[in-house]
Amino acid sequence: MTTTKKPRASALAQSKSSSKTADKTAAKTASKKTRTAKPAFVQRHVAVVGAGMAGVACARTLVQAGHRVTLIEKSRGLGGRMATRRTEFGGFDHGTQYFTVRDERFAKALETAQTVVRPWSANTVRVLDDKGRVLASAPPPTEPHFVAKPGMSALVNYWAEPLVQPALHGKLAASTLTGTRVTHIERDALHPEQWQLRAEDTDGGQHVLGGFDRIVLAMPHLQTHDLLLASGHSPELRHQLDAVQVAPCWTLMVAYPNAMQPGLPHLGPQWNAARSVHHRISWLARENSKPGREPIERWTVQASPAWSIKHLEDDEERVKAKLLKGFAEITGIRATPTHAVVHRWRFAQTQKPLGLSHIYDQDLGIGLCGDWCLGHRVEDAFVSGLELALAMA
Ligand SMILES: Cc1cc2nc3c(=O)[nH]c(=O)nc-3n(C[C@H](O)[C@H](O)[C@H](O)COP(=O)(O)OP(=O)(O)OC[C@H]3O[C@@H](n4cnc5c(N)ncnc54)[C@H](O)[C@@H]3O)c2cc1C
Repeated sequence: MTTTKKPRASALAQSKSSSKTADKTAAKTASKKTRTAKPAFVQRHVAVVGAGMAGVACARTLVQAGHRVTLIEKSRGLGGRMATRRTEFGGFDHGTQYFTVRDERFAKALETAQTVVRPWSANTVRVLDDKGRVLASAPPPTEPHFVAKPGMSALVNYWAEPLVQPALHGKLAASTLTGTRVTHIERDALHPEQWQLRAEDTDGGQHVLGGFDRIVLAMPHLQTHDLLLASGHSPELRHQLDAVQVAPCWTLMVAYPNAMQPGLPHLGPQWNAARSVHHRISWLARENSKPGREPIERWTVQASPAWSIKHLEDDEERVKAKLLKGFAEITGIRATPTHAVVHRWRFAQTQKPLGLSHIYDQDLGIGLCGDWCLGHRVEDAFVSGLELALAMA
């Protein structure tokens, strides 16, 4: 323990004038030292691969810190698993259904996106037993649920806008390439201290994108692993991903346009969303109950992780038939839907996260982020991307 002696008042007064000059000199030297000690800001060119929540959170933070960012996404649209499937009957949030907010920094960032974020009434969430009966012990909702409008992908797209249209946002140093799958990371042919990426577009065209000082991989962990493996870099970086486990999810989307009749607001149950322990289905939600959606009766149904693992390679028609049967058992809706489509998410929900917010190899200049670092929620992806950017900036 350290103790400090209190100086007596007289001694303090005596020393005041003589120490004034010494203080000034010391202050000058200190400020000089601080000035010289602070490293000058160096703008880096960072490639961020993957434009889901983690990649966009990382990219926008790097741009805000003054870096130059190229965002590269293999799909045609941005958002990753914060996805919206548009149909003639209205949209489906076939990935993320809603999100919750626990981290202050996520809450603060959401304040900038008030035009696209809406609370979604959680008081109708029910917990169902394996027969689809509402459990008497359904716990009350503990925290507000939020959605983006008109569909879940709107939030990531809103935050990515300055990266997609930098000229509209004060000529920010950013650009975005969609429909571009990164296949290889290698040293830049002209400047070996930098990186270049090999990529393939949706028409099979091959591209080399060079001149990157840093690389961020904001992709599902297995795809990250495979890209690092294919590129032959840093087995240590890759091996850190070995313990992570992520489950798939088969998702069914159904629409009943004929159910819209005057005086009949809903087809089936009175609740709008439910968790369930049915052997096939773990979640169901009425899409048209969400704010800013089209009114046609539409449901998104998620198979449980165990069922999705077991039926991962089944053909779509078989999966659709089984999930429709489960949906009818739970909701009592036995009418044939006008629209019924399934989607397979190979990497849906983290079961065992890394336990760190991100991985950054400073010597290589390669960073990894994604929800799998911290958990299975949108907020985990945001925090992971943000913290990697702060570590790099
Ligand atoms: C069915 C389902 C339901 C969910 N429900 C909820 C929920 O209700 N609440 C909640 O909080 N969370 C939910 N989640 C989880 C949530 O969606 C994720 O936590 C979050 O969206 C992950 O963001 P991410 O940026 O880490 O990854 P992703 O969103 O997967 O983004 C990764 C991006 O990388 C791109 N990519 C991959 N490989 C390459 C490559 N080689 N080159 C270029 N781009 C590449 C992908 O196309 C993708 O866009 C759900 C997920 C699923 C699938």
